[in-house]
Amino acid sequence: MPAQLINGTELSHQLRADVAKRAAALTAKGKQPGLAVILVGDSPASQVYVRNKVKACEDNGIHSVLEKYDADMSETALLARIDALNRDPKINGILVQLPLPPHIDAHKVIEAIAPEKDVDGFHISNAGLLMTGQPLFRPCTPYGVMKMLESINYPVRGAHAVVVGASNIVGKPQAMLLLQAGATVTICNSKTRDLGHHTRQADILVVATGKRNTVTGDMVKPGAVVIDVGINRDDNGKLCGDVDFASASEAAGYITPVPGGVGPMTITMLLVNTIEAAERT
Ligand code: NDP
Repeated sequence: MPAQLINGTELSHQLRADVAKRAAALTAKGKQPGLAVILVGDSPASQVYVRNKVKACEDNGIHSVLEKYDADMSETALLARIDALNRDPKINGILVQLPLPPHIDAHKVIEAIAPEKDVDGFHISNAGLLMTGQPLFRPCTPYGVMKMLESINYPVRGAHAVVVGASNIVGKPQAMLLLQAGATVTICNSKTRDLGHHTRQADILVVATGKRNTVTGDMVKPGAVVIDVGINRDDNGKLCGDVDFASASEAAGYITPVPGGVGPMTITMLLVNTIEAAERT
């Protein structure tokens, strides 16, 4: 029997209704939540991402400010803008769209964001808080994946979760959230020997490599939950994930589609983090 879909668009819709309600309650108290999004350069993919984030804010009662700068903006000028936003009481969340142009040190920029406004959860102090089990912000993509597991009432505690990919923004925080939810976690990277040996043991398989067909159906344990974080284009220019959907959905119990899976959830959790930041003020 083919896998059941976990529909990220539908789940986002439900979660965004709650965001809108909380935003309205804050606005009624004169504290409308605000998000600043900074884009440096003109990468077409980044332009789409920031546009979607700003639109999601507008649709749900969050004040948003989009600051776009040329690719040759200096690091000093960018740090000065972040400093100003850190001190702006109307702004509860600051997001710098990555990647940044190569002359700008992304680590330095992320560390310049006030941790209490770091709605992406990438600041080193937020990474540390997450690691030690006292998260202030959960990074949006892994947080969205946890909500997807919750939506199917999946018993994460005691399950074997395999995370394929170990980046700071997806794989590592994902593994940490799963571990804290009681899963036994394996993290794989590009050097992992015999990836299929690991993935076939997964009750929960999260794939975030940025490489098409990293996981195919023969690498999926029958009945597993397969969460595909990847965003790639196939040979015809169509969006696809890191998992071969056709073969994996024959083996899996649940699977997320691309598009319409993790993507919308990431934006939704950004809204949730912005609301959480505003509610703390
Ligand atoms: P990175 O390139 O930063 O990290 C990729 C990770 O995957 C690395 O740890 C790398 O290993 C590992 N990897 C690469 N190839 C393999 C392989 N064949 N087998 C096992 N591990 C492998 O990517 P991100 O984490 O930033 O993003 C991953 C994907 O998720 C991308 O497609 C990105 O577009 C997408 N994405 C989607 C989001 C959404 O909202 N849906 C949000 C964020 C990202 P090593 O450490 O050894 O290099």
